Amino acid sequence: MMLFIKSNWPSEVRSAVMKAAFLMVLLCPIASAQSDTNVIEIVKGQAIQGGLILIKTAPGSRLTLDDAPLMATQDGIAVIGFHRDDTAPVVVVATAPDGAVTRREFTPQTRSYEEQRIEGLPPKMVTPPDEVVARIKRDREMVVMARSAATPIAHFTGDFAWPAQGIITGVYGSRRILNGKPRSPHYGIDIAAPKGSPVIAPQGGIIRMVADLYFTGWTVIIDHGHGVSSTFLHLEDTAVIPGDQVNKGQVIGTVGSTGRSTGPHLDWRINLFGKRLDPQLLVGEMPQ
Ligand SMILES: [Zn+2]
Repeated sequence: MMLFIKSNWPSEVRSAVMKAAFLMVLLCPIASAQSDTNVIEIVKGQAIQGGLILIKTAPGSRLTLDDAPLMATQDGIAVIGFHRDDTAPVVVVATAPDGAVTRREFTPQTRSYEEQRIEGLPPKMVTPPDEVVARIKRDREMVVMARSAATPIAHFTGDFAWPAQGIITGVYGSRRILNGKPRSPHYGIDIAAPKGSPVIAPQGGIIRMVADLYFTGWTVIIDHGHGVSSTFLHLEDTAVIPGDQVNKGQVIGTVGSTGRSTGPHLDWRINLFGKRLDPQLLVGEMPQ
């Protein structure tokens, strides 16, 4: 800021101008900090069904998502996900350390989904017999628990890699008809690959579950932080145990066909707590 004070001005004018200038210098940093905090911006991803966005707010802000607390990293990064069928806008409110309150709405773009028919599955895998109902319930509870951690690690902010290379044989969101019977949609991405092919961690994290489940066979869950998790289904072998910290690219197991499966493939899922997201939106095109 340039300031000219003419020596021929009366002294009271000179002192008033100087006082005003002093106040402006004092107030400027506050004014600029205020405008910086009045922003909630998307730094990664897209608001779309099955998608995940990373938003940035002023570091140290308190955040809510639809009135529930939303955790943020030290840098002010938070994650929001949209389920397959979400259409309603979500509202984020950020209260910056200086008290400035910012509000922003995100409305997911809608998508249409494919239909997938699979024939020739063993009937007990389409309609499970009574004796395994309790086991299936236990399996489900274990998975819900493994995906429930709100771990303050920030691996989810990094780019994700494909956990296996192969042919994509199933996509997120498709309506499924198994042996002619309509069933719940498919939520993973299926990558067909030879049995025994390596499965790598698409991003770093902490192993939360390694278990042999009725429908999904040998299953591994990685916690990438803030409720973002990866699940790997139908594995032949596993190379990790719960509590292990894994790096991006580390082998966690091999492709198999355990559980309800018609051939060797990896089914990779991404969750934000209970919300099922589309891994393909996170990872982009598979490198050839
Ligand atoms: Zn699948």
